[in-house]
Amino acid sequence: MTRRVLAAGHVNWDVTLRVDALPDPDGEARIESQHAAGGGSAANAAVSLAGHGVDASILGSVGDDENGLLVERELAEAGVDTDRLRVVDDGETSVKYLVVAASGQVMVLGNDGANEAVGPDDVDAETVADADHVHLTSQRPETATRLARLAADAGATVSFDPGRRLDARDFSATIERADVLFLNGREAASVLGSEYANAPPTRGGLVVVKHGARGATVHTATGSYDHPGFDVDAVDTTGAGDAFAAGFLAVVLGADGIDADRIERALEYANACGALAATSEGARTAPDRPEVEAFLDDQY
Ligand code: ADP
Repeated sequence: MTRRVLAAGHVNWDVTLRVDALPDPDGEARIESQHAAGGGSAANAAVSLAGHGVDASILGSVGDDENGLLVERELAEAGVDTDRLRVVDDGETSVKYLVVAASGQVMVLGNDGANEAVGPDDVDAETVADADHVHLTSQRPETATRLARLAADAGATVSFDPGRRLDARDFSATIERADVLFLNGREAASVLGSEYANAPPTRGGLVVVKHGARGATVHTATGSYDHPGFDVDAVDTTGAGDAFAAGFLAVVLGADGIDADRIERALEYANACGALAATSEGARTAPDRPEVEAFLDDQY
């Protein structure tokens, strides 16, 4: 059975600038290369999911400008259903400038843009009607909570990858409703408390904690699984988290929702996705299923 996943949240246009070093105030850096492509956590996850053979659709918003057109075209070319991508009249597509230094340090500049135009009143049962699973990424907390509730009412499972603005917003109502929660170590410490690694949360869902180059851990109500990650030459880890989440979902979602028997395989596959994404530039660099399988075959 094809699983249908709706990814909801940010849809951006990303410009990645590789510089020799991040400049100090009043300083200047040399751009060594630049690369522009679609980005945004929900869009990245949707494209990755499509690459793993999942029937993926996107819920989000762009402006009616040239970047919005480019974003929509890229999503459609990747096989993502864009019927729920809202184009805001006179809106400006959200743009992120990712400044990546040779050392690996990253600085992000962004406008607000149109990427949070979808609010709680814009979504209803119809929005999630086709989905077996809803993957929520950074967006307005009220929208995320409403979508989680609608998904649960429709019998769909929910994952949540809140991302770096977790500290600035109260996502607790969405976190409570998520069947799968993706966090990095810093986010996990703030949501779950610093002892999270030794005391897996007793909630029913899965909590997946990403440790960058050191892999990831899945906490379940009955135990934890670790994967040490893969040793690769990382050039840009932007988007590694989105690639990881998509890979994990592509494997763990079974015909009847989350399949506990697939957790270990999903963790390995997701780590391969994150590692491969880290080896190329830009946020939209997730590998597809044949690339991940070839990579995994080479490891053993
Ligand atoms: P986020 O980008 O959300 O903060 P991480 O940086 O932890 O998340 O990356 C997500 C996953 O991508 C990691 O759990 C790991 O599997 C993989 N990954 C990230 N950076 C590297 C790296 N330098 N080498 C190998 N794998 C990496």
